[in-house]
Amino acid sequence: MGANRHMSVDSRGRYTPEAMGEAMPGSEGPTGSRSHNLLSTRRASLMQEPVLVLNATYEPINVTAVRRAMVLMLKGVAQAEEMHNAEVHSAAHAHRVPSVIRLLAYRHIPQQSRALSRKNILLRDRNTCQFCVRVFPSSELTLDHVVPRSRGGRSTWENLVACCYRCNNSKGDRTPEEAGLKLARRPRPFTLHTSRQLMRLIGHRDERWRKYLFY
Ligand SMILES: [Zn+2]
Repeated sequence: MGANRHMSVDSRGRYTPEAMGEAMPGSEGPTGSRSHNLLSTRRASLMQEPVLVLNATYEPINVTAVRRAMVLMLKGVAQAEEMHNAEVHSAAHAHRVPSVIRLLAYRHIPQQSRALSRKNILLRDRNTCQFCVRVFPSSELTLDHVVPRSRGGRSTWENLVACCYRCNNSKGDRTPEEAGLKLARRPRPFTLHTSRQLMRLIGHRDERWRKYLFY
């Protein structure tokens, strides 16, 4: 169990299963209370370990937590493809803990399944100010309209970037060129491709994920 795996964007701007979630299989809905009780465990941190979720076609589509993954398995929605070396115990049984699960029915994933939101922009930009290229906690970042709203710049994936307050102040109501700032990279919509890059970031320490993510 990696003690340094967290379940939200932490102060160093790393991304985690919870942050990956939203409208993707494996992360929606509350867990059923029956399953939840069955899986009650003292090893709460193990239950929060990230689990890679594959589509029925073995395509990686999401990251969820052990607890949620085991509920999906109990419901017959998913099966384990790779296991952890750990177990959790309910009253009567020991359950092996999955590291990778696969949905049994194919789930169509829309090309762009992420809502335009502050959280998702920060996630896409990996909590990195797109002008000074430094990583900040979410609370120290704002969203910058690359082309300012006063110039007709719109609130779109392509015109919004994560920006620290310092850069935001020095840019003011100007375009990056006018302010002598350069974008780290061209902002793009958050797609499954982006999600997969984040899955790799989360999963690079787990060898059992590699064959699904690095190809
Ligand atoms: Zn900055």
